[in-house]
Amino acid sequence: MDKNMLRELAASFVAQAPGNVITDKSAINREVAGLRLFSEPVLGFASAKDPVFSRLQDEGIVGPHFATPDSWVQGARSVISFFLPFSETVRSGNASVAYWPSAEWLHARYEGQMLVNALAAHICESLKSQGYESLVPSSDVRFFSRGKSSADEVPAFTSNWSERHVAYVCGLGTFGLSKGLITRHGVAGRFGSVVTALELEPDTRPYTRYDEYCSLCGDCVVNCPVGAITLEAGKDHLICSEFLDEVRARFSPRYGCGKCQVGVACESAAPPRH
Ligand code: SF4
Ligand code: SF4
Repeated sequence: MDKNMLRELAASFVAQAPGNVITDKSAINREVAGLRLFSEPVLGFASAKDPVFSRLQDEGIVGPHFATPDSWVQGARSVISFFLPFSETVRSGNASVAYWPSAEWLHARYEGQMLVNALAAHICESLKSQGYESLVPSSDVRFFSRGKSSADEVPAFTSNWSERHVAYVCGLGTFGLSKGLITRHGVAGRFGSVVTALELEPDTRPYTRYDEYCSLCGDCVVNCPVGAITLEAGKDHLICSEFLDEVRARFSPRYGCGKCQVGVACESAAPPRH
């Protein structure tokens, strides 16, 4: 199996997956029945031995708790990261509502995450069927993610496998002021990844700075309904997280906000530099 085969495998899965379309039965309202959640996935590849994975263990990046690829899969050779961009209907739906997330966005975050997990599992199982030991870190029992309260020494709002940081290493994009990862297809979408023993040619990262694709335009500062982002300090995770708790209480089991990802310069493309 090579990179092109993996790209085709992922694209075909997303195009045909019933989970990429909201059914009449699960739709929050009639307007969103038949809604397509994601457009075609974009894949990035890195060597499991890329030294940037170890750099993620530095304090202030992810931290020492970040688990490098070889701690998930013994003999890991490659990391495959994918970005699933939200469809135009999902993005414009959320941009048209001022404060709470739109019905389209609630579906894209909740049912959409199930599709992200299914795509990662599909890639992983396809590799395993070819004899390559592979694993989806975010679905493994050893995976953890910390919210605002941390019972141990792990800093709040971090995890031991950060999809955005992994996507950065795999050449998919750089960080924005809103802390989203801005890809060449924008910031609005979801990430997933697989660690595998299959050797794949790493992609060249087309950037040198961690924030190269952010123009510092300030659109996300203006759009945030609770003032969680400032040009001076970036995103305050605690303010954002408390608002997301409010959303969850109101729309449970669905959740999300994403106003910093829609109606902004980096929504569906990397903006020109400031
Ligand atoms: S909206 Fe502007 S400032 Fe905010 S992350 Fe996107 S490019 Fe950066
Ligand atoms: S997700 Fe919503 S609350 Fe959080 S930073 Fe973005 S716009 Fe603000």
